[in-house]
Amino acid sequence: MIPVFDGHNDFLQRLVAEGADPLKIWGEGDGTGHIDLPRLKKGGVFGGFFALWAPSPPAEDGIDWQKKQENPPYAVPLDGLIDTGKATGHMLQLTAMLDLLERSGTLSICRSVDEILAAKDAGKIAAILHMEGAEGIITPEVLHVWYRMGLRSLGPVWSRQNAYGYGVPFAFPADPDSGPGLTDAGKELIRTCDELRVLVDLAHLNAKGVEDVAKISNAPLVSTHSGAYAMAASTRNLTDAQLEVIAGTGGLVGLNFAAGFARQDGRRLPFDGFDPYLRHLDHLIEKLGEDGVALGSDFDGAQMPHDLPDAAALPRLLDSLAQHGYGAELIEKIAWKNWMSLLRRTWER
Ligand code: ZN
Repeated sequence: MIPVFDGHNDFLQRLVAEGADPLKIWGEGDGTGHIDLPRLKKGGVFGGFFALWAPSPPAEDGIDWQKKQENPPYAVPLDGLIDTGKATGHMLQLTAMLDLLERSGTLSICRSVDEILAAKDAGKIAAILHMEGAEGIITPEVLHVWYRMGLRSLGPVWSRQNAYGYGVPFAFPADPDSGPGLTDAGKELIRTCDELRVLVDLAHLNAKGVEDVAKISNAPLVSTHSGAYAMAASTRNLTDAQLEVIAGTGGLVGLNFAAGFARQDGRRLPFDGFDPYLRHLDHLIEKLGEDGVALGSDFDGAQMPHDLPDAAALPRLLDSLAQHGYGAELIEKIAWKNWMSLLRRTWER
C-alpha cells in the first residue's frame, strides 16, 4: 500500500464536538466523520496536520449558509472577531485530546521530520500540531509557549477577521483578492514564525495576506489545503499568479478534497469519480512542478465526494492517479514524499 501524509484534518474539533469517549471514537470509530485510527490505517495514512480551530458563534442572519453553498453564486459574509480567551481555552482542549491520543500509544506529536519517520516506522500516527486561525495566540510572544507545546504549523487566519489579519470569505465565483491582508501584529507574528521555523500556512488568507507573508517570510510558501482557482473559481483556491509566487520559493500546495472547492461549478455537493481532483492536480503540477504538490484532505471539515467517503478510501484516489497516467514515483511524491521534503526545507533551514 502507498503511504499517505495529509496536509489538513479537523478531527480534533469533531472529537471535542462529539463530547464523549474520545479514545473509543479514535480507536474504534463511531461510524461518523472521515477519520479514526482504523480508517487511517486502512487508507495507508501514517500522519498529517491536526488542526486546532475555534468556532464562531452561530450566525444571526437566519440564513443556512451551508445550504447556500450548494447553489452558487454565493458569498458568505466574513465572521467577526471572536473572544481570544475562549478561543485559547478551546484550542487547549483540542490539544489535550491530541495529547490523550499520544498517551494511548497510537499517535505521536511530531516536531521534526525525523520524529515523523520514527513514528511511521513504529506504526504510530505522526501528528503535526497545527493552528488554523491564530485566535489562540493572544500576542506574538505566546507563540513561543505554543511552540514548547509542540506547535509547528500556523495559519494566521481562518476565514474570519482576527487581530492578525482578514481571512478570505467563502464565495463562488469570486476572486481571493477580498480586502486588507495582515495587520502590523500579523506581520510581527509571521516574523516570529520565521524565527522559530514554524510553518506559515497560506490557506484561508486573502490575496493581500498571501502577498504580506511572501514579503516577510524566508521559508518556502505553503498552502496546506487549497486548490487551483483556474480549475474552480472559489475564493479558497489559489490564482495562477499566487501559484507562481509559491513556485518561486520552492513551495507546496496540498490539494483540498472539499467538493465545493474542487468542482468546476462550485457546488458543495458530492460528485462521482475523481475527475475534479485530477484537473486540479494536473494544473498544480504544471504551475508548481512535481515537487510542489501534495494532499490536504480537509477530512472531518468538508464535504467529501461519493468515492472518497473517508480516509479508508484513499487507495482508490491513488489508483485513479495511476489510471490518469501518473508514474509510481510521482504518486509517492504527491502521497507523502513531497510533504517530508517540504517540512525539512521549512523546519531545518
Ligand atoms: Zn481550513
